Amino acid sequence: MIVAIDGPSGTGKSSTSRAVAAKLGLSYLDTGAQYRAVTWWMLRNGVDVNDPLAVADCAGKPVIVSGTDPAAPAISVDGEDVTGPIRTQEVTAAVSAVSAVPEVRTRMVEVQRAAAAAAGAGIVVEGRDIGTTVFPRATVKIFLTASAEARAARRSGELGGTQSVAVTQAALAKRDAADSGRTTSPLAKADDAIEVDTTDLTLEQVVERVVNLVEE
Ligand code: C5P
Repeated sequence: MIVAIDGPSGTGKSSTSRAVAAKLGLSYLDTGAQYRAVTWWMLRNGVDVNDPLAVADCAGKPVIVSGTDPAAPAISVDGEDVTGPIRTQEVTAAVSAVSAVPEVRTRMVEVQRAAAAAAGAGIVVEGRDIGTTVFPRATVKIFLTASAEARAARRSGELGGTQSVAVTQAALAKRDAADSGRTTSPLAKADDAIEVDTTDLTLEQVVERVVNLVEE
């Protein structure tokens, strides 16, 4: 069983995916964390993230290991726990450029398919291209959306109010444009994905809806 949950930032993908996996006794994989971990490695090693050739050259170097427990989804690079460091604004600002490089995506898709193959009962996988590219034959495909205002308010709240809603909204719009506009596996809804608009729903309501769709 593979549950693919895609959508732009701030739609509640991570909270929803973790809660759905926990409720259904499934593993969980955050593919955004993997792209962030590669980006963290590039920054740490002085690679120019705006030079696609330089990024492509190193795409095979970082060894990414993702925990798949929805209660504690840790991630490490070359044995170093980067669960916290991959959430910095520096990584967030660079991640779209790194994840647009085809060699990076090819590598990550391999890692993602291996994680799903190793998951016992099944897995909830969240990202941008899971239903379209990584698991086009997923059991259930969900595409989460929300208004730009709601997404920015949520993300600003997650950052503890350290970034205003207006600044957050502009940053999200920029990242979504880059993620949707790239040529390899852009952020996209699969034709057979079910769209859930989370703007006016609580997390519990979204989780209930997705669990019902999986159990149907
Ligand atoms: O989900 P999160 O915001 O942590 O994702 C960070 C970035 O990773 C996205 O903005 C996107 O550039 C990239 N990503 C991707 N494909 C995925 C998941 C994330 O390109 N499947």
